Amino acid sequence: MAFAQPSVTGVRIGAHPDSTRFVLDVSENIAVSVFTLADPYRVVIDMPALDWKVGDGGQGEAGETQGLVERYRFGLFQQGNTRLVLDLRKPAVVRQAFVLPPQGAYGYRFVVDLEATDRARFMKTVQSPPAAPASPPAAIQSAPQKRGDSRRTVAIDAGHGGVDPGTISGDGTYEKSVTLSVALELKRQLERTGRYNVIATRQNDIFIPLGERVEIGRRGKADLFISLHADSIANGSIRGSTVYTLSETASDKEAAALASKENKADIIAGVDLGKQSPEVTGILIDLMQRETMNYSIEFARLLIPKLEQAAEMRDNPHRFAGFRVLKAPDVPSVLVEMGYLSNAQDTRYLKSARGQREIAAAIAASVDGYFQRHDARLSAQ
Ligand code: ZN
Repeated sequence: MAFAQPSVTGVRIGAHPDSTRFVLDVSENIAVSVFTLADPYRVVIDMPALDWKVGDGGQGEAGETQGLVERYRFGLFQQGNTRLVLDLRKPAVVRQAFVLPPQGAYGYRFVVDLEATDRARFMKTVQSPPAAPASPPAAIQSAPQKRGDSRRTVAIDAGHGGVDPGTISGDGTYEKSVTLSVALELKRQLERTGRYNVIATRQNDIFIPLGERVEIGRRGKADLFISLHADSIANGSIRGSTVYTLSETASDKEAAALASKENKADIIAGVDLGKQSPEVTGILIDLMQRETMNYSIEFARLLIPKLEQAAEMRDNPHRFAGFRVLKAPDVPSVLVEMGYLSNAQDTRYLKSARGQREIAAAIAASVDGYFQRHDARLSAQ
């Protein structure tokens, strides 16, 4: 018999002058840990794995009248741990956080009371999470490559996940779902050839920090790292795919803005950036990366004409910017923005099984082309 996971069945926000109460209806008593993070001001609440059974999918706008809370996000942070992140309009202290036992018409309720404060007092409450969560399990990777295995290793990175939904379309399509579907389809297609050992940074709806995504590729000795995303932009008529490779200098303003948006994933998920390993944060683009960058560019140039056969392309479809997830010094890496969730046609295509198959096939064909060129070069030496 399977045990039902505890669930969240309701969310309420009560705003008063200078204080706000945030309440979750939960199906049973749960253990929680609460901490705050600054810049931007956030309250982060870690809980055991819970199902979100409220209509908004766990990605809520708190609305104009909802006091200190601007919006909230709920989702898997890592296996067995869901996270609720409250974005605050202004600094606030957590006056109390507790679980109320069932009473009258109410079941268990998890309550957080927030009280407005100033920046100086808020900063005093900012501290690291009580118990630093362990890294996500390595079980999401494929079996390790055996000695004498001639297969190439390709890392596929489905952007966002869990508590970080990525961008959300007008019809409620999450970037994190589209990227996962295409990633799993691409994994299937590549594995079917028998030529590739495929590593996936995630295979379910879970949050993976940006640095960890890079490390999964490096640990798995990936020959190529492909990060999948979908963009959104104010102008709803803009559509098409864009392929990005790493550069310290962005090719245009739009690319720079996009990279800074995508690089905020860890902030959105309430990751304490002070805790990141210096090995990852300290990586700079230097001469050692030159060769890797050239290979990344080579792959991008093979990919664009293939993608063009499947999907609409942006003008200047190869762009450059400082994406955090492309910074492995030794793994050629590209980031594909597969289309715009702010455009209705792109959204329909990206959601459809046909669209996902076609995009995956275009990427798989360019992976083939890329390694064929490498093999030809090696045999010519
Ligand atoms: Zn994204």
